[in-house]
Amino acid sequence: MGIPGFWLFVVSEVMLAILLFIVFPYLHYPAGKAFAGLVLSSLVWVSFYTLQLSSSLVWVKVLAMRIEFIGITLLPIALFVLSVLITGQKVIRAVWTFIALMSLMFLVTIWFIPVPNAFWSLTDVDVIERVSSVRLREYGPMFYYLFIPYTHGMISFSIILLVRKMRKEQRYYWKQVILLSIGMLLPSGINFIHIIGLTPNGHVNYGTASMGLSALIIGYTLLKYKFLNYLPVTRDVVIEAMSDGILVFDRLGYLLDANSSAENMLGRTNIIGRQIDQVLPSKLLDHIKHSIREGGATTFVTQDGQDYYENQLTPLSGISGYQSGYLLSIRDISEKERYHREVQRMARLDPLTGVLNRRTLFEEMEQYLVTIRQGKGRLSLFMLDIDDFKKVNDSYGHDAGDRAIHHLKEILLVFSGPGALVGRFGGDEFLVACPGLSEEKTVSLAEAILKEVMLPQQQNHGITLHVSAGAISSETIAIKDLTSDHMLNLADEMLYQAKRRGKNRVCSPSNLSADQR
Ligand code: GH3
Ligand code: MG
Repeated sequence: MGIPGFWLFVVSEVMLAILLFIVFPYLHYPAGKAFAGLVLSSLVWVSFYTLQLSSSLVWVKVLAMRIEFIGITLLPIALFVLSVLITGQKVIRAVWTFIALMSLMFLVTIWFIPVPNAFWSLTDVDVIERVSSVRLREYGPMFYYLFIPYTHGMISFSIILLVRKMRKEQRYYWKQVILLSIGMLLPSGINFIHIIGLTPNGHVNYGTASMGLSALIIGYTLLKYKFLNYLPVTRDVVIEAMSDGILVFDRLGYLLDANSSAENMLGRTNIIGRQIDQVLPSKLLDHIKHSIREGGATTFVTQDGQDYYENQLTPLSGISGYQSGYLLSIRDISEKERYHREVQRMARLDPLTGVLNRRTLFEEMEQYLVTIRQGKGRLSLFMLDIDDFKKVNDSYGHDAGDRAIHHLKEILLVFSGPGALVGRFGGDEFLVACPGLSEEKTVSLAEAILKEVMLPQQQNHGITLHVSAGAISSETIAIKDLTSDHMLNLADEMLYQAKRRGKNRVCSPSNLSADQR
């Protein structure tokens, strides 16, 4: 054939055909079609260039050259689309329109407007047939001043996009992008050298011949790094779209990555590269430092005013360029947490009156009794029950009865003060426990409440309530018997005595014994 290195072109064709075959299962991946387009346009280019070189028929050469230029025109577009997909670069519609119009202009000129030789002028058939070394065509100004800057500009721009993206990416993607870029730069570089006339054998463009090597490199990248499966852009989009705040920092506490949710939660922007000490609230920092000292992955909740955050710290290894680091994800759980706390609070309270329920009252009393059993402090309490409450319900209705219960609760809260525990035992029965108060004072308090309760309720049919109470103090109980249960039994007994002795009164061990005297 007389063309040095002709086999290189054939090898390139075969390699590209194999690559196209390998790409086939990846067609449905995000950048699969663009990549297949790149391989196909390269294959068209190299195949028809080979045909152009090898055919002895001039019309075949010319036809091959025209088809070849379809590949050459489409290749930079495929590469551009591929790098846009890989990098997630936004491209305005005007750019796409420009690309479409330019390509159309070149192809129409190449195929249908040979004169006035804007793109190229074809050498006379007789000359070609006579002089074997003569060029098939001489390129015109459109080729040199539009086509070359346009195609090479697009290839360079695509590679710049990839490389710029690579700087932000993890090492895994670096290798992908470096290999991809080498694979793509190789033919276009050699092609460029050929066009500016620096190739030793001026007739033959080895740019296409190098595509075989490109195909090898790209095929390797595809299989080894699966770049069509895992696009860096996918990772970016996913992390950016997350409502959780994501922060990655190295061992020295420098932030390597942060998504917008994290920036919103922290109320800061441009935090990448800063120290976490400057960016995170001190409470969160304390937790993080503690967790790092402990060495394992941890989850902890922090509170910032009304807001609650669930933070998850995960040690990472092999962050690009760093020995190790940490991933901190921050989830806003305020709503869930507030609901949870509300449920917890409700579970402690009596639904009708909002004071403590029986179980909580027991628990709270028990806490006081622990220290009292150690000989510190005292606890007095009284149990209180509305007299003849059934009659209130019967005469005024259940709602009026409920309002009366509320009324009594208000009086209990106001009279017993903030230090006391006020709870409803169910029905018309309440308990008030007063830490630190003597039996005598507690009885006085109960009596004051008795008097207040007797005042007619203006807003509630003028109902007048009477109550009875039984008071008791830890002072009169042996330490070994000091349990909530026992105290309540004793108070209940006192209440029973109050009812038995005519209601509307307070009974306590001391005033009972005074009565008996
Ligand atoms: P005593 O003087 O012996 O206490 O007589 P009493 O009528 O108050 O009888 P008791 O304390 O044994 O019964 C309480 C009554 O309170 C029974 C029920 O009709 C009424 N009651 C219980 N829970 C509620 C409630 O949530 N709302 C209203 N309106 N009434 C209730
Ligand atoms: Mg009652």
